[in-house]
Parts: sequence; C-alpha cells; structure tokens
Amino acid sequence: MNTNQTTGTECAPWCTNEDARGRADHTCMGDSSDCIELTAALDYLTLDEDGIESSFCFVTPVREADRRPGVSMTWEVGDHPEFRPRLTPGEARRIAAELVAAADLIEGGG
Ligand SMILES: [Zn+2]
Repeated sequence: MNTNQTTGTECAPWCTNEDARGRADHTCMGDSSDCIELTAALDYLTLDEDGIESSFCFVTPVREADRRPGVSMTWEVGDHPEFRPRLTPGEARRIAAELVAAADLIEGGG
C-alpha cells in the first residue's frame, strides 16, 4: 500500500469518503449500516428528564492510512460516552456468530 505524502493513498473500492481523498491522511470509510435501536439497553439506564434515552449502534467499514481495513462499531447508549471498537474481519464475524448463537439460545432455536 502506497502511503507516500506526494502520491497519497489508493482508496479502497468500497470507500465513499470524499474528505482528503488522495492525501496520506485520508481515511477510507464505506457507507454505515442503518442505525439499530438498542431497546434492551434501556432496562439498565435511568431515563433523563424528558424520559428519553437514545441508544443505538451502527457498523462502518474503515481503513485509515497505514492500517489494515477494519470494521468499526459505533455504540451510543443514553448519555454514556460513545464506544467505537475497531474489529478485524475475523473478529467481526466471530462476534456476529456469537450474537446469533446467544439470540437463538434464548429464543429456544439453538
Ligand atoms: Zn478512501
């Protein structure tokens, strides 16, 4: 991968980020998934004055210059700070499989 300052970086084929495109500090980002509302998280939170807590997550493919591509998960649960872990493709698949297995188990399907 060429990250030379004068020639910039090659964009990933899935990149939709126009910001700093072609420059060494460009971060390739794909389209984010739809926001997934996290209603179960509300069981653990105290509602704010308006009785509203916004909890959701979404997934974005990313590749920062000089780094391996990764899967970014953005979690926002109420007023808690945003949590944005970066995962390798293997880690993302493993977590997805574990989520499906746990969901199937509690619904009696697995
Ligand atoms: Zn790019």
